[in-house]
Amino acid sequence: MNKTYISTRNQQDEINFYQAIVQGIGNDGGLLVPNFELQKLDLKQLSTLNYVDLATEVISTFVPEEGKALINDACKKAYGSGLFPEVVVPVKKAGDVYVAELFHGQTAAFKDMALSLLPHLMTLSLKQLKEDREVMILAATSGDTGKAALEGFKNVPGTCIKVFYPLDGVSSIQQQQMVSQTGNNVKVIGIKGNFDDAQSAVKVAFGDENLKAVSDQHHVFLSSANSINVGRLIPQIVYYFHSYFELVRQNEIQLGDQVNFCVPSGNFGNCLAGWFAKNMGLPVNKFIAASNKNNILTDFFATGKYDANREFYKTNAPAMDILVSSNLERLVWFMSGKDGGKVKSYMDKLKENGVYEVDDETFARIQDQFKAGYLNEQQVLDTIKECYNTTGYLLDTHTACGYGVLKEYQKASGDQTKTVLLSTASPYKFPESVYQAIYGETLDVYEAIEKLNEKTGVEIPQPLVGIKDRPVLHKTHIDKSEIIPFIQSEMEKM
Ligand SMILES: *Cc1c(COP(=O)(O)O)cnc(C)c1O
Repeated sequence: MNKTYISTRNQQDEINFYQAIVQGIGNDGGLLVPNFELQKLDLKQLSTLNYVDLATEVISTFVPEEGKALINDACKKAYGSGLFPEVVVPVKKAGDVYVAELFHGQTAAFKDMALSLLPHLMTLSLKQLKEDREVMILAATSGDTGKAALEGFKNVPGTCIKVFYPLDGVSSIQQQQMVSQTGNNVKVIGIKGNFDDAQSAVKVAFGDENLKAVSDQHHVFLSSANSINVGRLIPQIVYYFHSYFELVRQNEIQLGDQVNFCVPSGNFGNCLAGWFAKNMGLPVNKFIAASNKNNILTDFFATGKYDANREFYKTNAPAMDILVSSNLERLVWFMSGKDGGKVKSYMDKLKENGVYEVDDETFARIQDQFKAGYLNEQQVLDTIKECYNTTGYLLDTHTACGYGVLKEYQKASGDQTKTVLLSTASPYKFPESVYQAIYGETLDVYEAIEKLNEKTGVEIPQPLVGIKDRPVLHKTHIDKSEIIPFIQSEMEKM
């Protein structure tokens, strides 16, 4: 089978996996999607594999056949010994909910699952394509992508990385993690604007004719580390299979039983990866997408209408403070019968009027598989407290959105399918909120970490130990309107 990728907006020639990784985004502004049927995998065969081998089997279905050895090599480098714990994604129990902890990587972010691998996919792709230009990676971040991408790409030959984060739009821990980043090819820039501003400027940069000319002149090209890159999406499929097999190993389910997945969602890359897993043979009943007060996804899954004309809230679950949920475009493409013309018309409407509505048939397909809900800030705090008091499990603010939405869904639907809740952050990433939720007291961030650890006994992730004392190395702050000129001046230095 010829495994090629096209754009969700239909106006890009077919390219192969390596080109898709390097290019990052469709050259018509759409997102790259596999132009082939996803391969069904044999559950029994996969169920006994370790994480590296499982990742190899899953990911290599997306590359040309001869690429499997390369993928295996990349997976060993990303997920091999020392970089993650023995069980890469531990699955724990909080009452009757199974919590898959995705935060045991290099930066204590769930993004590590993909961003530990992406640089290796990038270098192998550059090699396959005999590309000798430097690649400049751009990433907009609502917190965790930035750090995970910096850590992944630091000192990788042939690459440099620029990370844009909204000032005041990320947690103090996340900011400190980023601005203390070492590496000879990294830059971290604070933006006076919100996450959507940063993300849209980065998207615009890819299509900017002037930048293109400058980059050609300086023998450099742009790529993306955001979940618009298929290299971010595909590695995330693995932990759905892995979590499922963990439940089998723990004798909670039998191979073949259906489960639900509940996913705290922002850009929707995580949840979409789960849907890919389902289409590759994983027995999934429903996906439940959880949001915070920025509940645009909740409304979309309830009505089929995506309406970005609404207020943007800064919440205590900031990684999900998003109104433009990029990966939804991929879901809509699949659910509309891979109709790029239709998707393009929706995205044009979104751009012009801030709103689009999918047709009835597409919506019916979506509603059949996806449920959604959201929690406001007070509910997030209440949920953290209730979960801790009743189960002893310590949730972060994002995972709390998932937990609360799941409980509501179970109550309303009566659905008793066993459910895996994906935990996207350690509680120590948002210690002030978590501490306040349980003990009612507002503490300074570092004091909150210490006290939380003292009182709950939950271990502080290694990447966050001693973070307070790391020197600030990145102090650049610019306006959102200066992002493109900034990128240009960076190119001109190359
Ligand atoms: C990125 C992130 C999310 C959202 O994931 P998407 O794949 O963008 O939907 C949720 N929680 C945390 C903590 C994150 O860092």
